[in-house]
Amino acid sequence: MATQTPDDFEPRAWCRECRRARNMCCCAELTPFRIGFELAILMHPKEARVAIGTGRLVHRAVTGSHLLISEHFDDDEKLAALLARPDLRPVILFPRPGSLDLGTASVSATEALFPQGTRPLVLIVDGTWTTAKKLLRLAPRLATLPAVRFTPPHGSRYGRLRKEPRAECWSTLESVHHVIDRLAGLEVAVPPAGRAHDHLLALMDMVVARQLAFEPAADA
Ligand SMILES: [Zn+2]
Repeated sequence: MATQTPDDFEPRAWCRECRRARNMCCCAELTPFRIGFELAILMHPKEARVAIGTGRLVHRAVTGSHLLISEHFDDDEKLAALLARPDLRPVILFPRPGSLDLGTASVSATEALFPQGTRPLVLIVDGTWTTAKKLLRLAPRLATLPAVRFTPPHGSRYGRLRKEPRAECWSTLESVHHVIDRLAGLEVAVPPAGRAHDHLLALMDMVVARQLAFEPAADA
């Protein structure tokens, strides 16, 4: 079954904010919250048209997050401005050799990524690892940034909707939630107020339920 894109919808049938069909839009349920670090979601223009992607939802839920859409991030001015900020220390979420495993690294090893007086700027590519690999290949400067990774502790809540290369591959939304969890205890990142970020998982469940009601997963 072909994935519907916003272009297929009548203007009033899809939400301008999340680019989902109205009957799958969760904007009314959104409760934006703040996190203790800077978050930038890097999106390939192709991913930007995928109706079931979660990057846009995360961007709307996390107050002050940055949504950057480009094919060549080395030339992206908004990203360059973020990377030039002396108060931020960028890390990219990408499982390349030498990347720090947030799941197993000690607090001191994780904190060592962020020198005194800096806050984390977490860059996350919205899409599959394949998308991320492609974007990084096209942006050599991005590929030189310190990288972090984690091994998802369980399968994706999104598993029934989207075929990832591996079952344990997580959506952008789940990945962001997990990174917030991992960085919350660091002195460099102000912990989120309580578990406000769990709202992301509630949104995720809502999206999955609505999508399944709309079109049963072909491979369920
Ligand atoms: Zn919406």
